[in-house]
Amino acid sequence: MPLRFFNTMTRQVEDFTPREPGWVGIYTCGPTVYNFAHIGNFRAYIFEDLLQRHLEFRGFRVQRVMNLTDVDDKTIRGCRAAGVSLDEFTAPFKKAFFEDLDTLRIKRADHFPEATEKKHIDRMISMISDLIAKGHAYRAEDGSVYFRIRTFPAYGQLAHFRLEDLRDGVRVSNDEYDKENAGDFALWKAWDERDGDVSWESPWGRGRPGWHIECSAMATGILGPEIDIHCGGEDNIFPHHEAEIAQSECVTGHRFVRLWMHCRHLQVEGSKMAKSAGNFFTLRDLMDKGWSGREVRFALISVKYREPLNFTFEGLAAARASLQRLDEWTLRLRELAGASDAAPLPGDMPSMDAFGEGLDEDLNISGALAGLFEVVRATNRLMDAGQLSPGQSRTLLDWLAGLHSVLAMEPEDIGIPSEIQALLERRVDARAAKDWKLSDELRDKMLAAGWQVKDTKDGQKTTRVAPAA
Ligand code: AMP
Ligand code: ZN
Repeated sequence: MPLRFFNTMTRQVEDFTPREPGWVGIYTCGPTVYNFAHIGNFRAYIFEDLLQRHLEFRGFRVQRVMNLTDVDDKTIRGCRAAGVSLDEFTAPFKKAFFEDLDTLRIKRADHFPEATEKKHIDRMISMISDLIAKGHAYRAEDGSVYFRIRTFPAYGQLAHFRLEDLRDGVRVSNDEYDKENAGDFALWKAWDERDGDVSWESPWGRGRPGWHIECSAMATGILGPEIDIHCGGEDNIFPHHEAEIAQSECVTGHRFVRLWMHCRHLQVEGSKMAKSAGNFFTLRDLMDKGWSGREVRFALISVKYREPLNFTFEGLAAARASLQRLDEWTLRLRELAGASDAAPLPGDMPSMDAFGEGLDEDLNISGALAGLFEVVRATNRLMDAGQLSPGQSRTLLDWLAGLHSVLAMEPEDIGIPSEIQALLERRVDARAAKDWKLSDELRDKMLAAGWQVKDTKDGQKTTRVAPAA
């Protein structure tokens, strides 16, 4: 059965056919490194990670490029305000970004091109020269260069508007007054004093590239003129991706992208994430509150990329509970499997293919996870009844390992922290001395720190829960 994905260009779920059988090139718009990425950005990167991993699960070889936007208005403003060079300003955010990718178990792309690398700047300049030579771009009086959108009648095809509708609707900013048409966008921005020492020489004078041409140059420079899949968040559709299509196709003469995929924005507690609203979270903020990267990953991955996702702490707690269920099941299987070899599963099992088939259909993660938990439920029942053999447990563990190559939710081998261990030991003593009051106090203390204690016939058992508010 072919994989099927929703194409933003055609607004339809289509069969996926890469340019070369078995091989997929993906370009994904990466972070603008002027700040720590927020968890909304990571919804986009986790969706792209799921896409890559599922394609690989289905046997495709994926080559992925994710750019770093390390020069634009925001990075320049940031370095000027901090009084440091552009490189010095962006370096810590680049480093933090890679650390966050690892924390969230996001597979590294094959290439992370940076817009300021010389070979990419050179390619941007050569693409702009080509666009001018072909009449698609013009130099304004101040030395800026603009793309002439009326020379590309397909402009608007991705965002689904007509060129005529755009003409009146677009605000003309003060510093772009010499554009021929309000919708024309900057390919090259002439230096002005707000840019400080950030500039490159070009045939049109000193200046810097526009954000859109950066991605066109890095995408076609690394992956060639026609890319299988281009992804981003929904805010990228217009103007960024629309502009990328115009620039790239006018230079190469090829269709730029076969399949466009965009994820819906992450909302926080029902509204737009904004610093001013106090609901702006970085991954680090959540880790400081006691949540793990794996839990955040689960919370962000478990809603289909094209559906709205409202980020809440209840959602994180639900992610923690689901992972606990999975971990307890895994542990049970491991104990039962011991060193035995795989054996065939009972005939009346729920479908073992529902997970993959869910993802085949436009990355329907809800269907995929429902399929997984269906198997968990059925086999827990079999284990309760003593009807699952060690060999069958081994088969289930092997199957689960395949699923983890896509989900990346393997249990963390985090031990119980030493302070919790010390409280547990004190509680053993308290209970031996029948000091129930102290025992309860210690239990509450651990709960407040995110560790629930249960007394079982084999002694105390601790599990991670949401820390008490
Ligand atoms: P930026 O650093 O703003 O260039 O954004 C990097 C990536 O994150 C882009 O693909 C954006 O579309 C995506 N993005 C930004 N905000 C959100 C959000 N709230 N939810 C999902 N994706 C987002
Ligand atoms: Zn981009």
